[in-house]
Amino acid sequence: ILEIRDLGKDFGDFNVLRDISLDVMPSQVVVVIGPSGSGKSTLLRCCNCLEVPQRGSIRICDKDLVVDGKMLPDRELNALRMQVGMVFQGFNLFPHLSVLENVSIGPRKLRGMSAKASDELALSLLDKVGLKERASAYPAQLSGGQKQRVAIARALAMEPRVMLFDEPTSALDPELVGEVLQVMKALAAEGMTMIVVTHEMGFAREVADEVLVMDGTIIEHGKPEDVFSNPKQERTRTFLKCIL
Ligand code: ATP
Ligand code: MG
Repeated sequence: ILEIRDLGKDFGDFNVLRDISLDVMPSQVVVVIGPSGSGKSTLLRCCNCLEVPQRGSIRICDKDLVVDGKMLPDRELNALRMQVGMVFQGFNLFPHLSVLENVSIGPRKLRGMSAKASDELALSLLDKVGLKERASAYPAQLSGGQKQRVAIARALAMEPRVMLFDEPTSALDPELVGEVLQVMKALAAEGMTMIVVTHEMGFAREVADEVLVMDGTIIEHGKPEDVFSNPKQERTRTFLKCIL
C-alpha cells in the first residue's frame, strides 16, 4: 500500500531524513519510535504530502506521490491525499463546529457527499469511537481523549486506505490514553493499515506487526518482541532504556 524508496529530506543545510526505504502492506501496523528530533514526524508528513522530500520516492496505492522532489500535479495529489488519513498530537478540531460537523464536513466538501449521507457516515463513525451521544457537543466541551477520538473519526470519514498517527496520545492525561489506544486497537483489528508514531510500548507489543527505530534513518526494524528484547544497535538499547 505504501512504498518508500531511498527517501531523503533536508531543511536547509540540515539533513533530517536519509536513505529511508519502507514497505507497508495492507492491514499492517507499523509503530515508529525514536528520540526527539529523529525525523519521525517529518517522515509521516512526507507520506501525507505536508513536506516534500528532495530525494527518493513515495508510492501510495500504486501511484507515485513524489519522485526525486517532483510531486504529483495538484488535482491528483488531492485525490491521493484523501487516501491517507492523519491524526496529530494536538487534535486540530474546528472549534466553531459541532462534533458531528467536524466529522461530516470532509466527506461533504471534499468527497461531494450529500448532507444526509455525510451525517449518516459521521454518526456511524462517532458510534464506532464511542461518541455518538456527543454528536451535538462542541470540541471545547470534550475531554482530550474524546477530542482525539473525534479526530480519528474525522480522518476515517475520508475513508482512507492508510492512517498515520503522530503521537496521538502524548498530549493526553494518563487516564485518557487508554480510550484512544482502544479505538486504535479496534481499527487495527478491522484491518486498517496504520503507521503509528508512539512511545506506548504496550500498544506496540500488542498491535504492531513491525517496529521501526528512527534516528534520521531507520536504524532498526523488526517484530516488536525482537526489537524490544534483543535490539541489534547500541543506539536502540540506549533509547529503549530511556523510555521503558
Ligand atoms: P519529536 O519526538 O520531538 O516529535 P521527531 O522525531 O518527530 O521529534 P521531527 O519533528 O521530524 O522529529 O524533526 C526532525 C528535525 O527536523 C528536528 O531537528 C527539527 O528541529 C527539524 N525540523 C522539523 N521541521 C522543520 C522545519 N519545518 N524547518 C526546519 N527544521 C525542521
Ligand atoms: Mg514528532
